[in-house]
Amino acid sequence: MITKYLRGFFIVLTICILAIGLFGCSRNESSKQSSEIKTTDINKDKNENGDIIKNDGDKLSENGITRVKHIVVIDAGHQQYPIDEHESIGPGSSETKPKLSSGASGITTGINEYQLTLDVSLKLRDEFNRRGYEAVMIRENNDCPLSNKERAEIANKYDGIFLRIHANSDQNSSIRGALTLAPRADNQFMSNENINDSQRLSKNVLDSMALETGAKNRGVINTNSMTGINWCKIPVTIVEMGFMSNPEEDLLMQNNEYQQKIAKGIANGVDKFFDENN
Ligand SMILES: [Zn+2]
Repeated sequence: MITKYLRGFFIVLTICILAIGLFGCSRNESSKQSSEIKTTDINKDKNENGDIIKNDGDKLSENGITRVKHIVVIDAGHQQYPIDEHESIGPGSSETKPKLSSGASGITTGINEYQLTLDVSLKLRDEFNRRGYEAVMIRENNDCPLSNKERAEIANKYDGIFLRIHANSDQNSSIRGALTLAPRADNQFMSNENINDSQRLSKNVLDSMALETGAKNRGVINTNSMTGINWCKIPVTIVEMGFMSNPEEDLLMQNNEYQQKIAKGIANGVDKFFDENN
């Protein structure tokens, strides 16, 4: 009798676990959220038909000013393990790259890039929620075996922008500073409109982040070799917050206040991007 109940319990448990694992790697801890601060789980906003999810009708009223609530998809770069299998670097391309690289680690702290990108991305999520955006998280823990292409495909379901959060590394430990990556003007995988928007997003985000943090501004790097950019149908930027190979910047990026400044700076840049659109 007890065995029968136990078996039933485990079947229900298995179904629940499978259901949770169906989309993305995002986990919501609703008990922690107030009614004002809301995180959007990938599951909740996903249209059954796979249609692009718009939020244009959803307006916010603040001090009598009504503005559109925009969607920001946030990808904390990497996860605890790399994925060595290859995938195409862009739609229709025969060139391939590993699905997910292992990422950098701090020269002084030894902390992995995937942990740093998650810590900052969670602060970024809260910052965007405070500003009335809808934040969609690709991952909220370090167990997210999704490739760069797969992460882009999740973001493409939203009518918003896509921020991919990373940290840099170089053999020369004196190199420091922030930069962003955008598609080149001749990118064959993306529309001209999306190339222009992604370049503008990259510039706004970098300039605002460098201003807020005081980090050296290393400029926007335009490249056609990033899988994480080439598969995107919505404006995208890869944010390289700083160099984990630089001892001072490695330590700085582990500082809670500095992480808040990064989040605030990135959000300021996104505010500007959307203000220019209006
Ligand atoms: Zn990275």
